[in-house]
Order: sequence, then C-alpha cells, then structure tokens
Amino acid sequence: MILVKSIKELRTQVELWKNEGKSIGFVPTMGYLHEGHGSLISKAKSQNDKVIVSIFVNPTQFGPNEDLDKYPRDLENDKKVVSSNGGDLIFAPEVKEMYPSEIYTFVNTSVLDNNLCGIKRPGHFRGVCTVVSKLFNIVKPHRAYFGKKDYQQLAIIRKMVEDLNFDVEIIGCEIIRSDKGLALSSRNSYLTDIEKEESLVLNRTLNMLKEKIKSGITNVNELVKIGEENILTEKSTKVDYLKIVDINTMEDVVEVDRNVLIALAVYINEKVRLIDNIEIIKE
Ligand code: AMP
Repeated sequence: MILVKSIKELRTQVELWKNEGKSIGFVPTMGYLHEGHGSLISKAKSQNDKVIVSIFVNPTQFGPNEDLDKYPRDLENDKKVVSSNGGDLIFAPEVKEMYPSEIYTFVNTSVLDNNLCGIKRPGHFRGVCTVVSKLFNIVKPHRAYFGKKDYQQLAIIRKMVEDLNFDVEIIGCEIIRSDKGLALSSRNSYLTDIEKEESLVLNRTLNMLKEKIKSGITNVNELVKIGEENILTEKSTKVDYLKIVDINTMEDVVEVDRNVLIALAVYINEKVRLIDNIEIIKE
C-alpha cells in the first residue's frame, strides 16, 4: 500500500496504472476510518483493479461553529483499514496542497440541498461539491464510492456528476452499523459508552417509523411526532431535524405515497451531532 501526499505523485501513479490498463476505484473520506469506510473500500476493490482512498479533512465544508479543529485523526489506524480492505493507495494531502491560495471558484448546488443538512449546515454542500470536484480532477477515477449514511450528499454528488459531465460512475453503498444498530461514524468517537447506548434510539426510531408506515400510518406530521417523541425518551437527545422526504428530490412530503427517505439529525448532550436515515421503498 502506497501513501502519497502530493498531487504530482498521485497523478504519476494513476497515469502508470492507467497505462497498464488498470481500472481505478476511488473512495473519498475525511479519515479516522472504520468499517463503514472499509465497506466502501472493499466494494471498490471488487469492481476495480486499483483502489485509491483520499484522507482529507476539508475545511471548506465545515461551518464556523463546527468541529473542524477537533475532528479526529489517526493515520496509522487508517493505513490498517485501507490495506485490510484491499486499498492500494492513500492520498493524504495537507490543506496547503489542496488550497495553495485563496479559492475563488466553487461548485454551487441547488434544490437538492434545500432541506435536511443543506439548510442546517449552510455552505456545507458547496464545500463538499467543490472538494469532490477537485479530487475527481486529481484522481480521475473510473468509479467513486459514497455511503448512504450521507444520503443527501450522495444524491447531490450524483446530480453534480450528471450536470457537469464528470466522467465517473457513482456507486452508492449501504449503511454499516454496529452490532446494536448504531450507524458507524468517525464522530462516534466523541461519545461515551453511555451516550453510545442512548444513541441507539436513532436507529430504533427509524425502524419503528418504518413499521408504522407498514401498518398503514402515512400522514407525515403524525409520523414525525411519533418519531420525535421516541427520540426524546432518551435524556441526552435533542432533535435537530426528523423529516420524511421524497427519495429523489429531497423535498418534504405530506403523505407517504411514494418512495421516501426518513432522515434525522440528533444532538447528543448538545455536543455531538449524529445523522442517520432509512429508505422506505414502496413494494
Ligand atoms: P466521511 O469520512 O465521514 O466523510 O465519510 C466518507 C465516506 O464514507 C462517505 O461517502 C460516507 O457516506 C461513507 N460512510 C461513513 N460512514 C459510513 C457507514 N457507517 N456506512 C456506510 N458508509 C459510510
């Protein structure tokens, strides 16, 4: 497994592989890797000859009061996760390598970011789309892998690739959870064991709402009320949002009369913001 820090070295290696006729899979991450990332890497390996994982905590996607400075890092463990899942190369640039001068050009998003994290984290998806565009131009992969854990991000990236004609296939990957059901996240490392237990209420609530829909409750206001009440049964929780949206447009729906996403963001003890979601596909 190779570790490179400069764009030049990365490009040289990719060119070498492409000249040998190798296909390239790409997994963009912010590091502090866990088996959620691992599943993207091993899926990429199953579909490509070579797999590149980027590790870059991108400052432009963090808001002023978010956790950029304390975002967890552990390159030694990241190397283990990448190699044990079949990754071939880690691209871990410094901020100066990615942003050598003040950036004047951004990829702006619209419509799909008009709800959920898009309104709760202003500028977030602009930062994500800008850095992912830069990474696509640097790595030039055949396929890129994104988790459904960040469902809105996946939808926005798919549309960006369509709108701007990026020559890359976007592959969505299922959410990986702990045995007890907590969606794996680098931010779980901020939680105490007790808080991790309490955070299980997120996945429980999503599954409960799925069952309610199956049993015939389709009014979104009613479902949201049931869901929020359930989350608040844990003392440490504060709901940032719990929404039921059209799975394609990310717009609010009034009734569950089509394929929807139930998406939520919840603060644990005011300090850690967790997101999770579940797809509800009509049979
Ligand atoms: P991050 O490092 O949080 O930016 O995540 C990098 C990629 O890994 C994104 O495409 C995430 O959606 C994906 N990812 C993170 N956690 C999980 C998980 N528990 N299951 C599946 N994909 C995940």
